[in-house]
Amino acid sequence: MKGVDFPIFNTKTTGVVEKFDLNSPEGRAKYFQAKAGPEIEKLKKYLETKTFVAFLMGKKNSGKGTYSKLFMEAVGPIRNRSPLSPSGARLRAGEISNGVNRVGHISVGDVVRDVHKAIKTGEGKKELMAFLEKNYRGFHSLEEVENIIMGRDTKSLVSSEVIVALLQYEISKRPRQAIFIDGFPRALDQIGYSLMLRQVLGYREDPDFLVFISVPESVIDARIKARVICPICHTPRSLKLAPTVFIGQDEATGEFYLMCDDPKCNKARMVTKEGDELGIEPIRDRLELDDVIFKRLLDLKGLPQIKLRNSIPADKAWDFIEKYEVTPMYSYKKGVDGKIEVIEEPWLVKDDDGVECVSLLPASVALGFIKQTAEVLGL
Ligand SMILES: [Zn+2]
Repeated sequence: MKGVDFPIFNTKTTGVVEKFDLNSPEGRAKYFQAKAGPEIEKLKKYLETKTFVAFLMGKKNSGKGTYSKLFMEAVGPIRNRSPLSPSGARLRAGEISNGVNRVGHISVGDVVRDVHKAIKTGEGKKELMAFLEKNYRGFHSLEEVENIIMGRDTKSLVSSEVIVALLQYEISKRPRQAIFIDGFPRALDQIGYSLMLRQVLGYREDPDFLVFISVPESVIDARIKARVICPICHTPRSLKLAPTVFIGQDEATGEFYLMCDDPKCNKARMVTKEGDELGIEPIRDRLELDDVIFKRLLDLKGLPQIKLRNSIPADKAWDFIEKYEVTPMYSYKKGVDGKIEVIEEPWLVKDDDGVECVSLLPASVALGFIKQTAEVLGL
């Protein structure tokens, strides 16, 4: 067996017969409330005084960012929106936005990019370097670390010790926030560091746990091939899997395309990023390494695990989930009246073992995420 066989999470809740629109924030709020109301209340209460550190494990493009954003959406910001800390002291610049979210998502890729920018522009560089001087332990001098981050040293990769120090730096800016860490460990030699991270953070006595996200490669491939972004606001959508409300047809080629539905973007035509038509081919090595680390960590003892699966075998799906929780596939045709018709049908994909599956909408995966998190925290 090539894939992993995670338990199928049953989202059918006795008594809830209502259908929900999982593509709108309002619909999702009702859905989460109906299906996980008590867990969300417990999580909110927990997060008023406590935090956690969770490592998101899944292949590139498996939806780690999307699922944690939906988790954050469901749990919501803290009640106190005042820009004052509990002691009454005014928060430093940049702390306000961190302070209102109970939960944050830290992508290692973004952290490295931010630090790169800080060094380049000089803004925040002094604080960063002072932090590294105090906290970095590794084989490079600070000057070498700077050169590596800036890519001036092309021979050395950003080492695990540097990544740990940069993560520490980012986390130190969010003292009262529960955190999802995305992109670490992403190399075999980083696994040991991830186990020690809670100790490295020292002052934190939060529980830590692992979140495994299993998504068939065919789903990742389809997501990449069909994704388009707005050239103005950069919102990602998908012609096949997540269209906007405005569809256009290219007069020259006959191709259908999406237009951004953010009013500020004035129906800008959404575009494909060059190379996306190749799907997972260019990242195949990376996916394989992600898979090795994923499976290695699945064997780890001593850390609680949350297991999320995106796909469910089609022949038993309806025993566990509702039709509206499944990702549909969209296609388009021009009607006789010249208007573009949107055709919605069930999307069937083969999982990594060739079994025909349906793919859950992100909100439905997030529901399992919320419930399992409450369980892992003992709420
Ligand atoms: Zn836009």
